[in-house]
Amino acid sequence: MRTIFTTHTLTPTLSTPVPDFVLPPPSLESSRRETTARMQSVENVGNRFSREVIHTPLPALGSISLIACFIIILIFLLPRPAAADQPTPTPEISIIIDDIGYRMHDDMRAIAIPGALAYAIMPHSPHALKMSHLASQNGKLVLLHLPMEAIMQEKNRFLGPGALWLGMTREQFMLTLNIDLNSLPEAVGVNNHEGSLLTRHPGHMAWLMDGLKQNQKFFIDSLTSEQSVAGRIAMEKSVPYLKRDVFLDNEQNQAYIESQFMELVRVARTNGKAIGIGHPHPETIQVLSRELQELDRYGVVLVSLIDLMQPGTETDVLPVRLAK
Ligand SMILES: [Zn+2]
Repeated sequence: MRTIFTTHTLTPTLSTPVPDFVLPPPSLESSRRETTARMQSVENVGNRFSREVIHTPLPALGSISLIACFIIILIFLLPRPAAADQPTPTPEISIIIDDIGYRMHDDMRAIAIPGALAYAIMPHSPHALKMSHLASQNGKLVLLHLPMEAIMQEKNRFLGPGALWLGMTREQFMLTLNIDLNSLPEAVGVNNHEGSLLTRHPGHMAWLMDGLKQNQKFFIDSLTSEQSVAGRIAMEKSVPYLKRDVFLDNEQNQAYIESQFMELVRVARTNGKAIGIGHPHPETIQVLSRELQELDRYGVVLVSLIDLMQPGTETDVLPVRLAK
């Protein structure tokens, strides 16, 4: 507690000289005036002392404050053992096999690859439902592989039924999307087949994300165009979203696919996670069957797409639980 000093508590020990109280000279009047003047002088000094004492921190409190500041600074500067002890998470890879539904033998061999892979099935393809059931029964993730308009016309000739086109009205677009989704009830998410043209268009991507949100599906951008806006629109519409990092088998020879697989591992080790997309080609199946046995050596782990979603995204409410 601070003590407030008044003129009454003044003592001669003050640093400011205090006038003395020697008896006044003989004249009564002059004596009275002098006494009054001296009293005012004492009062002025007292007031100044009061101001100085009140506004100057007490020495003891000042020391305590200094020590407290020093301790706080030390706490912030010292290394934190709890954070240092936390292990670095193992980099994660996830793999999608696209274009399932047209070649039953190859599709079945792809689905037989051990691990939490995802299988993207073409809507209305001859073996779509059979492959969807087979994958689900084996604890695999099923995606709808949604055909979308590409820039190059020769690619558009092979989009197949259920494709989404730039020239569609909103009604046509939503109807086609819903028919596609209903044709594969086991699909928990969607990725695009082709789509280098459509994924650049914010309006159509907004329709797509509205439809996916309504149906509680997530979206994986195959990223067939660098200018895809799917990710931005998915975020605006709160649709869970991921994107492809590496195409594994643009060339169908094992040396190329192996090098792409190692690129997937490299990206995962750099970014913490990476998504690769392959196809049910015999070469791809052989390389994946072999390389997925070596993940311990590469220091990465294979996880499902669901595991790659950010915690707190709406995947928490998706009705899917997968076998590892
Ligand atoms: Zn495809």
